This record gives sequence, structure tokens and C-alpha cells, in this order.
Amino acid sequence: MDLGIKGRRAIVCASSKGLGLACAQQLAREGVDLVMIARGQDALEAAAQSIRDESGVKVTTVAADITTPEGRAKVLAVCPDPDILVTNAGGPKPGDFREWTREDWISAVDANMLTPIEMIRATVDKMIARKFGRIVNITSASVKMPIEILGLSNGARAGLTGFVSGLARQTVAHNVTINNLLPGPFATDRLLQTAERLARDSGKNIEQVMTARKAAVPAGRFGEPDEFGQACAFLCGAKSGFISGQNLVMDGGIYPGTL
Ligand code: NAP
Repeated sequence: MDLGIKGRRAIVCASSKGLGLACAQQLAREGVDLVMIARGQDALEAAAQSIRDESGVKVTTVAADITTPEGRAKVLAVCPDPDILVTNAGGPKPGDFREWTREDWISAVDANMLTPIEMIRATVDKMIARKFGRIVNITSASVKMPIEILGLSNGARAGLTGFVSGLARQTVAHNVTINNLLPGPFATDRLLQTAERLARDSGKNIEQVMTARKAAVPAGRFGEPDEFGQACAFLCGAKSGFISGQNLVMDGGIYPGTL
């Protein structure tokens, strides 16, 4: 299926590995030129090169912390007017809310709520003027189904979801859509990090924790990043202009509600 976005420009935040990388790879397969961001230069450059080799698209890398104003300014200096914006950043640390300080909360809200809002603020009006824009926020299934040890994520991402819900209804008339992708357990480094914390808290080993997590997924497996990337690319497609303000849960069937 040709998504009709060949030659478009995308900023994909936090994309040297995991879900962000999968989105970048899939957009590149559709012929989209990319600006990829991560803090670690070496992994970022290696990821970018593999995409250039595979897809032949133009890939620019920006080694920056997207959660800082300086990092965002660096990215926007390279690409002030993307057609596609995929927001993403590392998830907050797991734990018990009694351990968290005000600073912990501020950094979670900064990374997982205010950073995407700032990136949207910097780009959405130019998308509206050009009558094309696709914004996809990588959030978490925790927005619909809170995860006990990820209270920082549950809270910060719910704030982003509420904000985006209002904005997405205003931009869609201009063919600028904003949607959220809500990953459940996907086989990435992040999944291992949360499993490590659960193992520490429960006295089990990582393997036991991972086996139990997998058993709780109706699909009987963890998600593959590639599956996530495909959904992202679809939402960015030229013919996806009638889908806005939605929250697509990708969790192998964990969320038990009818709607
Ligand atoms: P991952 O495999 O650990 O990859 C994270 C990527 O983000 C890396 O490329 C990392 O590179 C980059 N990154 C992290 N912090 C950054 C920052 N401040 N500025 C720029 N780049 C940054 O994680 P993932 O599994 O893809 O997760 C992506 C998002 O989805 C996270 O917010 C996570 O909490 C959420 N999520 C994931 C799952 C899952 O099962 N995987 C489930 C629910 C939600 P550098 O470290 O070099 O910067």
C-alpha cells in the first residue's frame, strides 16, 4: 500500500532505537526524508546509516536531549517545518510514588507532556498553512490502563492526552491530524528496564518476570517494534486525514474494555 507521503519531511524524536526507530524505518520505507534525534551520537548515526542504506532517503541526525529547550532548538534549526512530527522521549523511572520528589514529577511532565506540546507548538501552524500535517505522539497504554509502578508515566501522559484531544479537533479542518499511539509491552530495552524494577521489588528474577508479563498478553507474545512503526506510518499517510484525536492502543489485547 502506497501511503502517498513520498518526499515528505519528518522529525522523529528519540529514534536511535526501540519504537522511535521503528517509526523512522517505516516512514523511510514510504520515501519520507527524516530528521532523527537521540542523545547518544554513535547509536543515532548507526541507526541513521542503516536507514539510508535500506531506503535511500535523506536522513539528518541531531544528537540532542529533546526534553531541553536547547535540544529542541537544535532540532528545529535543522528542520523548522516538518510535514510529519513523531514525538517521543524516554519514559519516566518506575517506582513507588512515595519515593518521588517534586523534581521527579517536573522531569516526567517535562519529558512526556511539555516536550511534545512544545514540538507541536513550534510546527503545527506551518503545517496548517501548508494544509498538510501528521503528528503522532508515542505515549503509553498506561493512559487507558494505569500501570502501578509507572505513576509518573500515568500522570504525565494523561496530561498530554487531554491537551492533544482538544487541539486535534481544531487542526483537522486544515488536514493536520494529531493522534496518539499507546504501546503496551513491546520488545525493546524499555521493557527490560521496567522488568528489572519489578524483579527487584518482587524478589523474582528477570526471566520469571518476563514470562509472567508475556503470559498476561492475550496475543501470547510481546509486540514487535516493526508492528508499531507500521501503525505510525499509516497514521501519517496522505489518506489518514479523517483520523484525528484518537488513541490507538497496541497491546496484544490486554486492555479489557469493550471500547
Ligand atoms: P527504548 O528502546 O529505550 O528507546 C528509547 C529511545 O529514545 C532511544 O533511542 C534513546 O536514545 C531515545 N531517548 C531517550 N530519552 C531521550 C531524550 N531525552 N532525548 C532524545 N532522545 C531520547 O524505549 P522504547 O521502548 O522505544 O520506548 C519509547 C517510549 O514508549 C518511551 O517513552 C516508553 O516509556 C514508551 N513505552 C514503551 C513501552 C514498551 O513496551 N517498549 C510500553 C509503553 C510505553 P538515547 O538514550 O541515546 O537518547
